[in-house]
Amino acid sequence: MRTDIGQIVHLADYRPTDFVLERVDLTFELDPTATKVEARLIFHRREGVDATAPLILDGDELSLSGLLLDQEEVPASQYSVTDKNLTVRDLPSTLPFELTITTIINPEANTQLMGLYRTGGIYCTQCEAEGFRRITYFPDRPDVLAPYTVNIIGDKAANPLLLSNGNFLGGAGYGEGKHFAAWFDPHPKPSYLFALVAGDLGVIEDTFVTMSEREVTLKIYVEHGKEPRAAYAMDALKRSMKWDEEVFGREYDLDIFMIVAVSDFNMGAMENKGLNVFNDKYVLADPETATDADYANIEAIIAHEYFHNWTGNRITCRDWFQLCLKEGLTVFRDHEFSADQRSRPVKRIAEVRHLKSEQFPEDGGPLAHPVRPTKYREINNFYTTTVYEKGSEVTRMIATLLGSDLFKKGMDLYFERHDGDAATVEDFVACFAEVSGRDLTQFSLWYHQAGTPLVTASCAYDASARTFTLSLEQMVPATPGQSAKEPMHIPLRLGLLSEDGKPMTPAKVEGAEFTTDVLHLVERAQTVVFHDIPSRPVLSLNRSFSAPINLHFDQSAADLALIARFESDHFARWQALTDLALPILLRAVQDTRNRAPVACDQTLIDALLTAAADETLEPAFRAQVLNLPSEADLARELGANNDPDAIHAGRQAILSQIADAGRDIFAALHEGMATPGDFSPDAASAGRRALRNAALGFLSLSDNTPARAKAAFDAANNMTDLSHALTILAHRFPETAEANEALATFKTRFEDNALVVDKWLAIQASVPGAATLQRVQALMQDPLFTRANPNRVRALVGTLAFNNPTGFNRADGGGYRFLAEEILTIDPRNPQLAARILTSMRSWRSLEPVRADHARAALMQIERAEELSTDVRDIVDRILK
Ligand code: ZN
Repeated sequence: MRTDIGQIVHLADYRPTDFVLERVDLTFELDPTATKVEARLIFHRREGVDATAPLILDGDELSLSGLLLDQEEVPASQYSVTDKNLTVRDLPSTLPFELTITTIINPEANTQLMGLYRTGGIYCTQCEAEGFRRITYFPDRPDVLAPYTVNIIGDKAANPLLLSNGNFLGGAGYGEGKHFAAWFDPHPKPSYLFALVAGDLGVIEDTFVTMSEREVTLKIYVEHGKEPRAAYAMDALKRSMKWDEEVFGREYDLDIFMIVAVSDFNMGAMENKGLNVFNDKYVLADPETATDADYANIEAIIAHEYFHNWTGNRITCRDWFQLCLKEGLTVFRDHEFSADQRSRPVKRIAEVRHLKSEQFPEDGGPLAHPVRPTKYREINNFYTTTVYEKGSEVTRMIATLLGSDLFKKGMDLYFERHDGDAATVEDFVACFAEVSGRDLTQFSLWYHQAGTPLVTASCAYDASARTFTLSLEQMVPATPGQSAKEPMHIPLRLGLLSEDGKPMTPAKVEGAEFTTDVLHLVERAQTVVFHDIPSRPVLSLNRSFSAPINLHFDQSAADLALIARFESDHFARWQALTDLALPILLRAVQDTRNRAPVACDQTLIDALLTAAADETLEPAFRAQVLNLPSEADLARELGANNDPDAIHAGRQAILSQIADAGRDIFAALHEGMATPGDFSPDAASAGRRALRNAALGFLSLSDNTPARAKAAFDAANNMTDLSHALTILAHRFPETAEANEALATFKTRFEDNALVVDKWLAIQASVPGAATLQRVQALMQDPLFTRANPNRVRALVGTLAFNNPTGFNRADGGGYRFLAEEILTIDPRNPQLAARILTSMRSWRSLEPVRADHARAALMQIERAEELSTDVRDIVDRILK
């Protein structure tokens, strides 16, 4: 356990290493508790570097057992070791030299899942961001690139598989009961992309023929017996490879591409060169155990990691401040892939929902930071939704500003110019500036200024002049360390609709650059005049969410209803319905708090039910429409003095009124949206299930009995329907015989499948209401629960803290105290996991005063702890600041 508080690393301090690493040769002698690692590293001193400068390598929890310089033992006087570094002095001034470092590490004891660890009996590595230094002493930073040769020696019976990056060189027996394998990765890479996997796993195999007709072997390794559940992942992989060739012109570059699924993993997956390691949750699927959401996630994450081969691996990051260079861009690429594979507007709706519920609160709270930060204390804490999702939005805005042709030109230039580089955000942006001739200096503020911009819009129509005037103002709120902000370059897509819903095209636009449907907002305040508009237009603003902003624009219910019916952009239709619903939901919350009766506006009911019943719309879209803004969305909109119980009750009251008004429509949808025949995970079938299940939710609400959901539970032939029915039973009819029986049946049926156990835990941890805390505490005693597995912890503790506003934010503060204890328990074992779950407290200041006081007390309990990881220390300090 580290007890230091961590040094702050600044972007401004970046400088290249003194020594250039030419080659890496690693030999592993695997042993569960004492693995021997021999690293042969060839370096030379960089030109111009002082001849006396020592070589300083990173290390963490290593035991050094040998050190040779050009095969000669290095005398003790020539090197020193601390718990963080190995420093070697008196090295050749110009000639290359070889350093041979031998370390002993203990994979079995590695519970933080960084470096070489054991999971389910197999050896596995995780090196991003700074895990390689837990394997050997190394210049463990992303701008040190070299080709790697890896030799692995292991017990043959226990480890028939010995895998690493690159192409397989060969293998053979190696003494008694042992064997070895050698791998060579010709593509220079940083240490964070290193991977080793050894053990006994099942495999499914396939091939892909690339655009230049090379045949690539594809292998997905899973636990024995689970091979059939990897079929969908393999299919998604092949589609990803094809798509990256067709859309980005990117071809795969090794003879083999491997994926290994492991059950203990801190994140979703990892893009190690040629050897991706996945949380098995994002590989394994079959109809009986995976939901439609699981299938969509698998498709997206398989694509994401595969796409990293070019955006991340071939072109990597100069330093960790540039993380969005690979992550934001790769998220953008996987979003585009899913949009092409599925429904583009439905995908966009899901993305924006996610952005608003996860990234907007981050950007508006104590953990706010720029997409490209300038300092960090613990890099693990910067794998954030701001870097990933806002980073993706920034890339999307570049595409919007430039148009698709120039965007493609810019990407081509980036791939051509920076292949093999450790690049920066500036390098990336420069490619687009160059191909377009645009000055992107102001636009780059999206990388540097934190906070969600607020755009306020108002408009007026002048019938005699036939002009429509739009006044826009922008403001970027203050965020930690950034009090004053510059105006941003904000691309706003827009459309004008006539009163009968037809698109209107202005003859001339003054006051802003306007191309096709993109308006460039660049000033703090800007007035834009649209000429030759024959009648009052209805304005659809920020179409397809072209900019990640908060928009204040007072539009009448009638205008919103018109957009909801006629906009050609279906995202905008959904947005209009949401804008229609929001004020009504917020009023319901206030009314609940004031103990006044809650009323739902008829315009909203009509608009929702019209969309729900509209057979010209995709079922998946209609399901999104029926999924009203969440409790977290309402809390964010309210902003301060929040009472989660009132939010829940107010929202439920509105849902009930919609449920009663729409009984016939919901009954018809529940009938009509059935998907007879064999299960298929395709997007259209998934959409039908989503709409049918939304209808079931409303029907159960107005029935006010569990019978219908129980019948659906009993009849379900796939996990989507089954878990949805179980959720209705557990959440809406808790402690009824039906709910208890369904929970018990589900448990018995799936207790051997950890991923389904996670669903069982999460459904219970998200039951609304104060009683859930006790239930969670009881579930922690269940033998199916273990703190050793991050997925289990996230399913139970994470779900309560992140996805259960009423259960977590109990008025007595019990939820916060529970979380504080859990954080302190998890931290010594797995600091990354603890720190991540603690971020659930980031919006504590927006709670009403009683809850806020309890939350602060719990945070201070964590802060007072004597031993905290840098990870948790960093988060708790920032949240309390
Ligand atoms: Zn990524």
